[in-house]
Amino acid sequence: MIRETAGIRIENLHLSFGTTKVLAGIDMEIKPGEFFAFLGPSGSGKSTLLRAIAGFGPRPKGRILIGDRDVVDLPPWKRNVGMVFQSYALWPHMSVRANVAFGLEERRMPRREIGPKVEAALELVGLLDLAERMPSQLSGGQQQRVALARTIAIEPQVLLLDEPLSNLDASLRVQMRRELLALQRKLQLTTIFVTHDQEEANTTSDRMAVLDGGVIQQIGTPQHLYDHPANGFVAGFLGTAN
Ligand code: ADP
Ligand code: MG
Repeated sequence: MIRETAGIRIENLHLSFGTTKVLAGIDMEIKPGEFFAFLGPSGSGKSTLLRAIAGFGPRPKGRILIGDRDVVDLPPWKRNVGMVFQSYALWPHMSVRANVAFGLEERRMPRREIGPKVEAALELVGLLDLAERMPSQLSGGQQQRVALARTIAIEPQVLLLDEPLSNLDASLRVQMRRELLALQRKLQLTTIFVTHDQEEANTTSDRMAVLDGGVIQQIGTPQHLYDHPANGFVAGFLGTAN
């Protein structure tokens, strides 16, 4: 059901809030279809980087290519990205179905096309049975699935997830992590997953970048980073012995 997926290339990206430098020269590439994690402590710039890719927040310096388009000067809705937030941000007064349909209506999709797309997205996250419920009648995990369905329904080229599981309790977090990965594999959709939890990054991602102070400390497969941490920060943060 997805349009097509795209790789991402970030070149010399800098971003400041006033005099506070938050991203200090990010260079990296994410391959089409990759599950990529940004891992780092609180305040390291993960959300700022993700929001810059999505088109929220101040305009950064540098380039962000999604496919072969530099999107830095495009508004969020022209970037073909879908973002899921930690807080879900569902409309409380709308049913599950209406929440998922909302983004499509906003894009002025013809009504006869909206119905099937909403059904398909709800089916993918296993929520078709709960389509008429209100968000307040759902568990945390179910609400997170609605947020995912809503994002997938717009058929983005890239899926951006900012600590999407951090509001869930520990056992549900592990289950949702598996579901998320299975969904990503099924859709083959380029995905960036932001987390401060090294186990979460380790168990989901094809590759990950460890961030600290708005700088990428190391990029590679989880295995590579564990076996060959580039510096003391990476070693300490991953809890490796080196
Ligand atoms: P993370 O997601 O890794 O916890 P953030 O990207 O949210 O980190 O924040 C990185 C830094 O940028 C922090 O020092 C934070 O205080 C600062 N920051 C984030 N958003 C704003 C903002 N809107 N105004 C000023 N400073 C901000
Ligand atoms: Mg954050």
